[in-house]
Amino acid sequence: MKKKISPQTSLVHSDYTPPAGFSALPSSIHHASTVLFPTIAAMRARNWKEKSGYTYGLHGTPTTFTLEARLAEIEGGRHCRLTPSGLAAISLVNFALLKTGDDVLLPENVYGPSKELSGWLQSDFGITARFYDPLIGAGIADLIQPDTRLIWTEAPGSVSMEVADLPAICKAAHAAGVTVALDNTWSAGLALRAFDLGIDIVMQALTKYQSGGSDILMGAVITRDDALNHKLELAHMRLGMGVGMDDVYLVLRSLPSMRLRFDAHDAAARKVAAWLTTRKEIGKVLHPAFPDCPGHAIWQRDFTGAGGLFSVIFDGRYTEAQIDRFVESLALFKIGFSWGGAHSLCVPYRMQTMRSAWSDPGHLVRFNIGLEDPDDLIADIEQALAGLEP
Ligand SMILES: *Cc1c(COP(=O)(O)O)cnc(C)c1O
Repeated sequence: MKKKISPQTSLVHSDYTPPAGFSALPSSIHHASTVLFPTIAAMRARNWKEKSGYTYGLHGTPTTFTLEARLAEIEGGRHCRLTPSGLAAISLVNFALLKTGDDVLLPENVYGPSKELSGWLQSDFGITARFYDPLIGAGIADLIQPDTRLIWTEAPGSVSMEVADLPAICKAAHAAGVTVALDNTWSAGLALRAFDLGIDIVMQALTKYQSGGSDILMGAVITRDDALNHKLELAHMRLGMGVGMDDVYLVLRSLPSMRLRFDAHDAAARKVAAWLTTRKEIGKVLHPAFPDCPGHAIWQRDFTGAGGLFSVIFDGRYTEAQIDRFVESLALFKIGFSWGGAHSLCVPYRMQTMRSAWSDPGHLVRFNIGLEDPDDLIADIEQALAGLEP
């Protein structure tokens, strides 16, 4: 186009391209819905169903491809797809692998919204969802039916903290040709080598440690297996799962410090948890690195770290109102869901409404230990505990 263009058109079109050869440490942020093709032939040659190149922003830009590759590396996988939230990653796995007439098994301590989703799959999509004791181990074999397609695992459960025997579950599942997916958010992919234990699909809520800022919602689904990846990729595109490039950049920016943050959360959480074991107000400390936690020996065998999330069960003599007052009288711990950020959080849970067979009379409170000085956190809990007794 040689003809002189009007100023209006020049606001839209320009021949300028920045000099080549730029190199820097951060990843670039590539914003795009439209991706340009040099020719029609190039456009027709591109298949949007395969991720080897660029077709449309929804299906990948250098920014998303970079984060996907980094996450697959961290987890020891080969393929990764980003999703708009951790919950979207869970729904991606379900919609990629399940169809009407199939059966899915989930642990009773599964992430709450995942339980809600499986109820919807059952009521409206003709997929049966059955729940198993998270400590079932090899006993899962007895629950597997000919129509069972998928077994979800979570280790530990993110409220009641039971640590599942993943190798035993995977062994039984694989003997029956069933795929096993793990919600590996608690370990951030740093403290558990899920694929080495037999897991087929790892799901991460990047909202937690990978973001680290309490400001991003994002998820990831990671695999080693090409055939599984193909199913996930198709579902990812058919469902239109996209993520914002600025958010992807922020996760990329946080990744280099994730190991240091995770280890700091871990050390502080163990210090606070150890102090809580000495308190008469506390019935049990449900931290996988402590012996009261169901599955503690499995954690010792399979995990190399623990992060900042754990729960306690108060002595049964306290009422719910007293425990609520305890949580509200904490100053440094804020009341709110999620974890993996710098701020400590605390949430009381009504276990009797969440679990059919919950018998402990004490009230459960979950702590997310942030990046504050653990001695300040202990002092905060101590002053709130002092208010428990009238
Ligand atoms: C937070 C969380 C999710 C969901 O992540 P969102 O990004 O908040 O949707 C899934 N599983 C576990 C264990 C989580 O903690």
